[in-house]
Amino acid sequence: MMDKITDKIAALPADGEYFSLEFFPPKTQMGFSNLRVRLQRMERALRPLFVNVTWGAGGSTAQKSIELAELCQRELGLTTCLHLTCTNMSQAMVDQALQDARALGIRNILALRGDPPRAEYRDADEPTGSEEFTWAIDLVKYIRKKYGSYFCIGVAAYPEGHGDGSHPEGQSFEHDLPYLVDKVQAGADFIMTQLFFDIKAYEKFETTLRDDPSGAFKTIPILPGLMPIQSYAMIKRTAKLSHAEMPEEIMARLNAVKGDDEKVKMVGVDILSELIEQIREIKSRTPGPRGFHFYTLNLEKSISFILERTKLIPDVPEDEEAVVDEPVPAAVTGQRSIPRISVNGNVPLRQSRSHSRTARRQSSVGSDPHNRVIVGRAAAHPEWEASSTEAGLPAESINTRANTLAISEGEGALGREATWDDFPNGRFGDARSPAYGEIDGYGVSIHMSVTQAVSLWGHPKTASDINDIFVRHIRGEISAIPWSEEDLLPESNIIKSSLEAMNKKGWWTVASQPAVNDLPSNHGTFGWGPASGFVFQKSFVEFFIPSADWKILYDKLTSEEHEEVVCFYASNANGDFVSSDSTGGTSRAAVSASTNAVTWGVFPGKEIVTPTIIEEVSFRAWCEEAFDIWAEWAKVYGRGSDSEKLLNEIGQDRWLVNIIHHDYVDTEALWRLLTN
Ligand SMILES: Cc1cc2nc3c(=O)[nH]c(=O)nc-3n(C[C@H](O)[C@H](O)[C@H](O)COP(=O)(O)OP(=O)(O)OC[C@H]3O[C@@H](n4cnc5c(N)ncnc54)[C@H](O)[C@@H]3O)c2cc1C
Repeated sequence: MMDKITDKIAALPADGEYFSLEFFPPKTQMGFSNLRVRLQRMERALRPLFVNVTWGAGGSTAQKSIELAELCQRELGLTTCLHLTCTNMSQAMVDQALQDARALGIRNILALRGDPPRAEYRDADEPTGSEEFTWAIDLVKYIRKKYGSYFCIGVAAYPEGHGDGSHPEGQSFEHDLPYLVDKVQAGADFIMTQLFFDIKAYEKFETTLRDDPSGAFKTIPILPGLMPIQSYAMIKRTAKLSHAEMPEEIMARLNAVKGDDEKVKMVGVDILSELIEQIREIKSRTPGPRGFHFYTLNLEKSISFILERTKLIPDVPEDEEAVVDEPVPAAVTGQRSIPRISVNGNVPLRQSRSHSRTARRQSSVGSDPHNRVIVGRAAAHPEWEASSTEAGLPAESINTRANTLAISEGEGALGREATWDDFPNGRFGDARSPAYGEIDGYGVSIHMSVTQAVSLWGHPKTASDINDIFVRHIRGEISAIPWSEEDLLPESNIIKSSLEAMNKKGWWTVASQPAVNDLPSNHGTFGWGPASGFVFQKSFVEFFIPSADWKILYDKLTSEEHEEVVCFYASNANGDFVSSDSTGGTSRAAVSASTNAVTWGVFPGKEIVTPTIIEEVSFRAWCEEAFDIWAEWAKVYGRGSDSEKLLNEIGQDRWLVNIIHHDYVDTEALWRLLTN
């Protein structure tokens, strides 16, 4: 089976096109099983040439990434590219990942650096003479040294320059160029880029590479990275994190519809489809198939629309098809009977498709009055001719236009499955959604370099220095805290003074929302979702609290006065966990795990939409990460430094508590409870 990306590209026609889809390992078990179904559906309806599985910086998602890669490669038979970072990881971890990949039959690695290396945090037990990983090129060389040409290696590039502020003259693609030349010459086979929206920047990038005097980029596949626009807030955040410029014209189009999430998605589809057309027109393009890489964020609706609109979904070429009337006896195809279009996630798992040299599909497209079955021509010279499967045209596909449209438009069972987690608003989202979790699946990180971290947060020496950092963030005087790269959302203005009071007494808030009772869905601050709807919110707040204070607050929350109106979840760094469920909660009797919809909307023609849910499983998943962030922050400062000690001690002493107040009509109730 042809499983190297470069071989698959080479097997496509010179003027062909292809695309890859990137997924991250979901945080929760439910998210994982839902992603399995989603992947099956996307694989069959969209047919990517390959899929990418992200890797948490420093190996933080190692096991989950390998699990997801196994699902893609082994179970679904998809050509899989495993991302692998090398900094802040021991050589043993890198070796383990590469061995696992090989054992799973994975032939493609995207070799990355990850977060900037912190030399003093190298594993003390590591044998002397172990590999030093500082830049991505070190990993490229290492893989080539240990595995020869077994792996097809990809590397990352940044059309607008890499944005970690490490270059003294600032961010620019020209500063990165010499290192990219070296990285490619060290043995990279393809390049995938950071996401961008500025076509001029991308065109300049690609043209410069193709014309580079080194000749390193003459023929190497370059896959532009594209991110569908899932929501207004998400795209602003991602653009900021990835240091991608949002051209004014694009921002204006999004601003014009920002009160209506459904319109934002649709305008986003227009924007991305135009971007793809513009990329197609770039004159410098080297002959050969043109590829596109999509950051899916584990969602499928927008991407289906974009692929459909830009005709990127591969079709079985006409000359390889023989059309026969249904039904085709199994004896003719040599296979089990033709699968019906199978929806609702009940598509049987594909058997290894590498054995099949017959491509077929069921089609009910266009003006055809009845279903026809199209059987692919068997390869005339199987010994040297790539089968359509090997060239990325999987057998048994059911990618009818109707199916893709059903997914993208959310119609019927197939569409409903595809779109149930369509509005990923809020910090929490729904833990059952594959998209639940941090934005990029790159794992726990403070998302900035040491220099940037120190310039934002200085060198804290006491707990009151930390109070200060949180209070200044609430006031908008600093743009980020380690748990959030965002300024406080405008909607939090109405609870700003309560949040400030909490942070001043050392109850450090990392997430919150005010209560909202029945505002129009196009409301400038609180609105979301489609037009003509109404939105609601329960107030909640999540904060770190000293263990001594937690004892007192716990008694208050479980007192008769409050226990009927609040739910809470709390955990510490040791994994001790307590919640209003375990204490009897709102009904006093022992209850099973509660699920709290904290944001919901009522829209014409739709069931009630609940994009943000807080429940034990999502809280626990996030908690682990939230405590790891203390340790990540501590690592910014030298080993043994006062700041490092302080941050580690604090992480050990605190509880992370999330409190939801059910009385969303009395919008002040939660804040009275916490600040009196
Ligand atoms: C397509 C794509 C997928 C990604 N997937 C993941 C993922 O799964 N998990 C994850 O954690 N992160 C991921 N990232 C993010 C990536 O890890 C970060 O952007 C990281 O900061 C840089 O990685 P790199 O491989 O580009 O590093 P490098 O190639 O090492 O470059 C990093 C910076 O250092 C500069 N540089 C390189 N060599 C030298 C040198 N010798 N001297 C001085 N400067 C040098 C480069 O110009 C660049 O500015 C991804 C990025 C992209 C574009």
